[in-house]
Amino acid sequence: MTSGARSRFSGPSDLHLHSNHSDGTESPTEVVRQAHAHGIRTFALTDHDRTTGWDEAAAAAAELKMTFLPGMELSARHQWRSVHVLGYLFDPTDTALMAETERIRSDRIGRAERIVRNIGRDYDLRWDDVLAHTTADATIGRPHIADALITRGFARDRTDAFAGILHPGSGYYEPHYAPDPHTAVRLITQAGGVAVIAHPVTSGRDRMLPIGILERLIAEGLGGFEIEHRENTETGKRQLREIAARHDLVVTGSSDYHGMAGKPNRPGENTTSDEMVARIIDRATGTPPRYA
Ligand code: AMP
Ligand code: ZN
Ligand code: FE
Ligand code: FE
Repeated sequence: MTSGARSRFSGPSDLHLHSNHSDGTESPTEVVRQAHAHGIRTFALTDHDRTTGWDEAAAAAAELKMTFLPGMELSARHQWRSVHVLGYLFDPTDTALMAETERIRSDRIGRAERIVRNIGRDYDLRWDDVLAHTTADATIGRPHIADALITRGFARDRTDAFAGILHPGSGYYEPHYAPDPHTAVRLITQAGGVAVIAHPVTSGRDRMLPIGILERLIAEGLGGFEIEHRENTETGKRQLREIAARHDLVVTGSSDYHGMAGKPNRPGENTTSDEMVARIIDRATGTPPRYA
């Protein structure tokens, strides 16, 4: 396949990074610097349910001569399963997509308050403790509650908090509003973006979507799967590679970096091939990459 895009960027490419515009611990500038320091030359910023980090990431990328792909990780849900859909190069002014992200973000606030109230039955934790760990721009999530639990001495780190108090089995958990995966894929695609299911085969409660649903999503315009991700199981990856090959889908590999202190994931621990990055760029019509 020939691609005009292919000569305009260089790898290694990491297409899944979070900043403090959602639940990462670092500003977009710091994230971009860390990605560069880890050898990455092309990257996507994919904060949960928001795009406000793009401008700062683009400026930092320009300074370091990196290529920036604007992105987002859109929250969705199928029954009890949380499904994350990565969107790349969509139009950030698309009204339907932006209205949906607004709805998710505002519901996430009430949901986090409910979780904190539940935890407050057994621990001395208040909503203000959580707010102290967020910025005005942040999409609120359980990681912010984890930070408050750490400050209060009820958890060692985020991993510890997620394994215990924040675990869905703890009795404190509450879900937040999220569209079904079909709606998520449609909104991203209609905004000119490329939709890729994030970490589709983690073990535990967020197991792979039923094959029938995946096939329907592909028919509806799903672009691909994030296959190389530390939380995907080996069996699941094999299955997904097969489905992707059969339907000629994009396959990606990414770190899902949340900051040096946020999660053990490091930029570049998984990468996406130049061919796949070029396919994403060639397919998208919503907004162009910011080339070095
Ligand atoms: P929420 O969207 O509020 O339900 O929180 C889920 C977010 O928490 C995801 O983006 C994960 O990256 C993050 N997360 C999940 N498990 C952990 C963990 N063990 N340590 C740190 N962050 C985690
Ligand atoms: Zn996250
Ligand atoms: Fe995710
Ligand atoms: Fe993520």
